[in-house]
Amino acid sequence: MASLMKQALDKKFSRKAFIGWSAALTTAAAAPAYGLKKIDSKVAAEKLEEEGRWVSASCWHNCGGRCLNKGFVVDGVVTKQKTDDTHEDSPDYPQQRGCARGRSQRHQVFGVDRLKYPMKRKHWEPGGGKKELRGKDEWVRLEWDEALDLVADELKRVKENYGNKSIIGASRLINHYGGALVRWGSSSSGAWGKPQQHMAANLSWGGSDRLDWRNSKLIVMWGSNPAWSNGGNPQYNLMQAKKAGAKFIFVDPFINPSVRSLDAEFIPCRPGTDTALLLALAYYMIENDLQDQDFLDRCTVGFDKDNMPEGADPKENFKDYVLGTYDGVPKTPEWASEICGTPVEKIRFFAQEIGTTKPMIFQSSFAPARTHRGQQFCQAFLTVGWMTGNVGKPGAGVFTLNYARNQSYGGKTLVMPGGRGLESPENPLFPGLTFGAYDGYRFAAPTRTDFHGMAYTETYDAILNGEYTATVRGKVPCDIRMIWKVRPGSGDNFLNQSSDIPKGIKAFRKLDSIITNDIVLSTISKYADIVLPATTEWEKEGRINTGNPEAIFIANKVTEPLFEARTEEWMEVELGKRLGISEETLFPISDKQQFFNSLAGSQVIQDNGEDYEPLVTITKEDIDEWGVEGEPQQGRIDLSELLEKGSYQVKRSPGDNLGDIKGKAYVDDPEGNPLDTETGKLEIHCQILADEIAAYGFTTIAPIAKYEPPLEGYEDTFENYETKEKGEFPFQLVTLHYPRRSHSVFDNVPQLREAFPQDFVMNKRDADERGLKDGETVLIRSRHGKVIRNLFTTETLMPGVVTLGEGAWVDLDEETGIDRAGATNMLNGAHNSGQGEEPWNTCNVTVEKYDGPPLKADKYWEQRVIF
Ligand code: SF4
Repeated sequence: MASLMKQALDKKFSRKAFIGWSAALTTAAAAPAYGLKKIDSKVAAEKLEEEGRWVSASCWHNCGGRCLNKGFVVDGVVTKQKTDDTHEDSPDYPQQRGCARGRSQRHQVFGVDRLKYPMKRKHWEPGGGKKELRGKDEWVRLEWDEALDLVADELKRVKENYGNKSIIGASRLINHYGGALVRWGSSSSGAWGKPQQHMAANLSWGGSDRLDWRNSKLIVMWGSNPAWSNGGNPQYNLMQAKKAGAKFIFVDPFINPSVRSLDAEFIPCRPGTDTALLLALAYYMIENDLQDQDFLDRCTVGFDKDNMPEGADPKENFKDYVLGTYDGVPKTPEWASEICGTPVEKIRFFAQEIGTTKPMIFQSSFAPARTHRGQQFCQAFLTVGWMTGNVGKPGAGVFTLNYARNQSYGGKTLVMPGGRGLESPENPLFPGLTFGAYDGYRFAAPTRTDFHGMAYTETYDAILNGEYTATVRGKVPCDIRMIWKVRPGSGDNFLNQSSDIPKGIKAFRKLDSIITNDIVLSTISKYADIVLPATTEWEKEGRINTGNPEAIFIANKVTEPLFEARTEEWMEVELGKRLGISEETLFPISDKQQFFNSLAGSQVIQDNGEDYEPLVTITKEDIDEWGVEGEPQQGRIDLSELLEKGSYQVKRSPGDNLGDIKGKAYVDDPEGNPLDTETGKLEIHCQILADEIAAYGFTTIAPIAKYEPPLEGYEDTFENYETKEKGEFPFQLVTLHYPRRSHSVFDNVPQLREAFPQDFVMNKRDADERGLKDGETVLIRSRHGKVIRNLFTTETLMPGVVTLGEGAWVDLDEETGIDRAGATNMLNGAHNSGQGEEPWNTCNVTVEKYDGPPLKADKYWEQRVIF
């Protein structure tokens, strides 16, 4: 067969030609000799079956799931996909099946809008050129050498004139080149980090083993919608718990698809007011003596005045705060209902249920903590959960579920990859800090004077105003000139995914240079100066992906790099040559060796549930064939079989030795197994938490859970809260994970745009009051920006609450300042809070009919095709 890929890559591409080619490759594979002759499609399909092969390629996106993905590769092109068919599906041993996004990856990898060549903004020149044209300038194609010379020269210029701290970014190269300004804070997990660390010694991160969830009688899901936000198996596992007899209660502003699929009791609660609801639950339980006093006395400190940590003011106990003993405000269901919107009877019902049903799982997602003053929710959630005593027992638990572990998985890690063998270089500007996730590190250490960077939420103000908050030490000057995003794992689209895009664009237009690598023209690259075309994971040597603790997934190389795309490692090596940093220094071992190391070091748990053994059998022939260094070893599965199968999943059955009850050892013997907290116990009163949050220099909290209205919460929707006179921004916006995207990834895929329209959702009664109709285009404004979208009305969302899926790629009308795509960060403000959590679920907006032309459906929008 003639080489499809070669014909395609040799071709001079007009957009039309590429669409034709791409469609031919990715739809039905009906033209094996593309464009040469007509052929019957059935015959063509059979021919392709003979000529192609299935390659396992795990989905690589940061969605919350982790699934097996297989591509049928014909001459380097994936013509169809399938998911896990490696074994029969069963509840105990479920297939790891992908969602619509993962199954659309071929449209992403082979899409018409892949970046094909290095390019620069026409009016950029060293120092910035016409900075105001960022985002609307023309693009000029560059040769690779030209692009690399420009980038290396600009890095040198900025470093020599302004120093490394004028660069925001992280990569191996930049750390070897003197480092850069790192940023800290919390996006995904909201405010959970520090409360978990100091109150619970991280005992409540992640859940117990998924099979144990079937022992529960009641499962509370707070702010959770796994059917949308955790693709893959989590919802399936919850259905097994339901089948086994568990009742479900969901707390949310939205009767979401998970509520309906689990036939759950629904407790409505306004965004950012969850703390008030939790305090009322505590009040009811105390009044009715439903708290597990024995558990509180044995395993916690701070619940009441008789059980306070040493040195704490006895009046600062939680029980007296809830009862209003000293502040005169009992936190009754009536008090809470006015704030959170939950009917009083529902609050009493809910409190009665959690106070009397055992065993119960009380779990929260990260979403309710993605608010201004998010820590207060975390404090209240843990405290009320602990009041029920559901810790360390079968079918019980008080959990915050981490997306990477997959909601309702939890438990021990049963199989894990080995290290890749590549050490991370230290950032010389921040001692002890190595290149890793995000820009550098998740949370600043406010007590160390040499260890602070800038909060994510303060980035744009820092660029515009020349200073940022160096934790409790106050403001420090800065002169930020460059954004550097050439790093492994393209897709750090932070201009789109951080709050306050309008301010972000202003800040971007002040800088000297913005360099990115990307696979498509995502928002950050659209506003950049030089963009380098990167390979997708399907064009790399391979890696092992993890997430589900029961399985690992192989991402094999599927095809050669498309067009002139290169790996980020290649880019850094080529830049290193120009900056005097050797390949040996940057990447002392090859990608292939790294992949091999990871496979060879993989471990799997033994049947005793304690010890681990090597997973992969590797022969001398394997090592020779790979051309790598290594030793033969005996494992459970042959290397070639693992690579072909694409995953290794540990088989489970109820009663096996592989389960785990979180916190059991501590609860059985708190004195013998003290926790790593200040007191060795679970801390309802936690002074070190309050001190550390204060030290960040943003907002403060009390050592116990208290309700204080957040910025842009429910209270701020009023002009006058006492008289209930609404203000200019009367609605509360919640920003949901939406099945069309994994954060902002996949927003460019037309098939997903068609399946999941980006509608703006509001309660039908709210819409009727404003004369707004389903399907018409509405203008949504906040204090920070404005978007237009088509309206979808429903009775399943609380009145006063509106929602949009997060992650749409901003599409700005420069004249009006309106974003047509419905990017939620156009509306969200970048408020500094607590430990630098993004306050995505505290945002006030107003909605009106749009007087411009109606929006056409996203699936008809032009894709960002540059060359
Ligand atoms: S996007 Fe997530 S849930 Fe969907 S296939 Fe990929 S890993 Fe699985």
